[in-house]
Amino acid sequence: MIGLIGGMSWESTVEYYRIMNELVKEKLGGWHSARLLLYSVDFDEIVKLQKAGEWKRMGEILGEIAKTLENAGAKAVLICTNTMHKVADDVQNRINVPLINIVDATAEVLKKDGVKRAGLLGTKFTMEDGFYQERMKRHGIEIIIPEKEEDRNAVHSIIFDELCLGIFKEESEKRLRDIVDELKKRGAEGIILGCTELPLILKDDEFYDTTRIHAEAAVQFMLGNI
Ligand code: GLU
Repeated sequence: MIGLIGGMSWESTVEYYRIMNELVKEKLGGWHSARLLLYSVDFDEIVKLQKAGEWKRMGEILGEIAKTLENAGAKAVLICTNTMHKVADDVQNRINVPLINIVDATAEVLKKDGVKRAGLLGTKFTMEDGFYQERMKRHGIEIIIPEKEEDRNAVHSIIFDELCLGIFKEESEKRLRDIVDELKKRGAEGIILGCTELPLILKDDEFYDTTRIHAEAAVQFMLGNI
């Protein structure tokens, strides 16, 4: 049984639920489905804390939730967002079961594909605060982010003001694709959709979809090499 900390936003948590169940069904067949515990937060509270820069508090909150999931029987925990991995170590320190880290899981896939320099799209926290770069560096992967601040602001605002609210606009998809092209021109060998809502609008297989990669890593943990 795996514990999911979701609701950040629920638009992407639904995808985790769907992908994990589909994968378990694919591997075990029949009526098999994923044994999951979901703790879904009120995202508004988290967004306010993010805006206030209260990361220590968020580490405590997610840590308590992770502990609740562990006590309920979860054998591993997932934080279903890239951004909140800024406090992943805090959360891991509060539980005795493993936290399956989205950055590590993504790095493993990049390494398999021989990608050494990857472009990263995500919230401003994910792109600018350094935790993603630092963790990827441990795996020998260099991260590049959109050079222009206006581009980083655009990605951030498409995530929060549109995708997290279930709004999908053609012009935003076009804007994101232009930013991706720019990253490729600067030498990105692969593009990480480092926000769990981005795959809802950028659906091409060529992108590194962190929602799917994270969900796959969780199912791999659950079932082993079946
Ligand atoms: N789900 C998004 C992510 O993967 C953003 C929402 C959040 O701030 O957690 O980063």
